[in-house]
Amino acid sequence: MKNKAPIIINTISNFLLWRKNISGSIGFVPTMGGIHKGHLSLVKKSVSYCDFTVVSIFLNPLQFAKNEDLNTYPSNTNDDLKLLSNYNISVVFLPSKQEFFSTNFSMKIVEGHLSKCLEGQKRPDFFPGVLTIITKLFNIISPSHAFFGKKDPQQLLIIKKLCEDFNYNIKIVACPTVREKNGLAMSSRNEYLTKDEKADASVIFESIQEAQLLIKSGVFSIFKIKSEMEALLLSCPNLKIDYISFSSCSTLIEYKKTLKKNSLVSIAVFLGHTRLIDSFFYPDI
Ligand code: AMP
Repeated sequence: MKNKAPIIINTISNFLLWRKNISGSIGFVPTMGGIHKGHLSLVKKSVSYCDFTVVSIFLNPLQFAKNEDLNTYPSNTNDDLKLLSNYNISVVFLPSKQEFFSTNFSMKIVEGHLSKCLEGQKRPDFFPGVLTIITKLFNIISPSHAFFGKKDPQQLLIIKKLCEDFNYNIKIVACPTVREKNGLAMSSRNEYLTKDEKADASVIFESIQEAQLLIKSGVFSIFKIKSEMEALLLSCPNLKIDYISFSSCSTLIEYKKTLKKNSLVSIAVFLGHTRLIDSFFYPDI
């Protein structure tokens, strides 16, 4: 059967009208545009799980600090819509900034612990911005399921906590990281990388695979695993390590000496001017 093109809805009132007239499970995939195969894997999962799939494209200004790349973020709505047209998506929700924020908008959702760790230490505006927008989107879309990438593991954990703490009856589905052939995790921001930097970036996944191999062979010393990862990463002269972290995946509190079960191993690096993150859960979730 031929896939149906999605309805494109730009206003909250039109979305609510559409929402009122349907019944069944609704899968929601929030994005900031710059659609790539990672986003599309979430879409495919939602379409296979749910009766309806809603994808939002909204470049969320709240999650960018003043010195970050809001104005250059790689996203082209026409390209995005073309990519999204072939997957049996029910609705692409594409509100303007004016539609989404009233002129006197003044609320913010702040989480008190998980969002202060890892990425939160480096980017303090990020998670309050994400949580505020996701709360608004959850309220508007009212999905039964929402699909998030393990590519952004801290975001995934904090969104799960949002649902617990604020009683959203939404099943959060964690989706595997989709990678380029050389192992680089797909990301809209990979557009910033030069061809050489893209090739160099393979070392990030190599360091993850090395850590996974060590763990599989029974090495749990964080010193040992971290040293091997650092050696691999630093074999690339253009790369700077921002952090390599070993933390509990429920509290995000750092393990100091020994890796325990249910942990998150995360990496942030700079390749040239571009900051890249990657990670894995041990064991996988
Ligand atoms: P973004 O547009 O960057 O906010 O991402 C929207 C969603 O896509 C988030 O849930 C991300 O975790 C997910 N995502 C981004 N890149 C990937 C990837 N390479 N593999 C799987 N999911 C991804």
